[in-house]
Amino acid sequence: MKKISIAIDGPASSGKSTVAKILAEKMNYIYCDTGAMYRAVTYLAISSKTNLEDGPALCALLSKHSISFKQQSDGQLVFVDEEDVTEAIRQQDVTNSVSIVAAHGEVREKLVELQQTIGKKGGIVMDGRDIGTTVLPDAEVKIFLVASVEERAERRYKENISKGIETDFETLKKEIERRDRIDSTREVSPLVQAEDAVRIDTTGMSISEVVEAIEAVISEKLGLD
Ligand code: C5P
Repeated sequence: MKKISIAIDGPASSGKSTVAKILAEKMNYIYCDTGAMYRAVTYLAISSKTNLEDGPALCALLSKHSISFKQQSDGQLVFVDEEDVTEAIRQQDVTNSVSIVAAHGEVREKLVELQQTIGKKGGIVMDGRDIGTTVLPDAEVKIFLVASVEERAERRYKENISKGIETDFETLKKEIERRDRIDSTREVSPLVQAEDAVRIDTTGMSISEVVEAIEAVISEKLGLD
């Protein structure tokens, strides 16, 4: 069967990466977590004390380093040069600054180029904020996942607890809302549903129900029904 491209976009903690990973595994496709790339640049900027408001400086920093993924049997690792940053890019300091870094047009230009190179042969599930609109505008399947902010904060809260991280629920909710606000109102490639994307509200749905809903969209788009 022809290998297609699947774009999954949506706001913070809407479950994109969880379902994208499952789908990629089921279909034997490549999975690309574009949020991890913006997080890796943010990690680099914080570590090197680069001003997060300075787009050209962030770009210069990015030119000196490489961001890559390594597929493992139990998940995907993210590397900056030779350093495994998989855990580091999920820390609070990176999460709370990443939207500032991702708002710079010059940073996006570089990362979008990299993402398009990874996706050019198809057979890919890519998740992010601008995949359906900018990175893979010709993707055969475009999904826009949403969920209430309460449910998204709840998911993040439970995830943190399972990792032994104690966080305040209301603080998490505010952080998610703040990130969505910056991502949706930036000038370059804001978080917005592509016209031809299928919107799925995952509030109250289990992970397997969301995967099934996306599989139904894939079958319909490919005329397999
Ligand atoms: O998906 P994740 O929550 O890890 O993304 C982290 C941040 O990276 C987002 O809040 C957003 O600012 C940025 N991002 C983006 N465009 C993408 C993916 C992520 O601007 N395609």
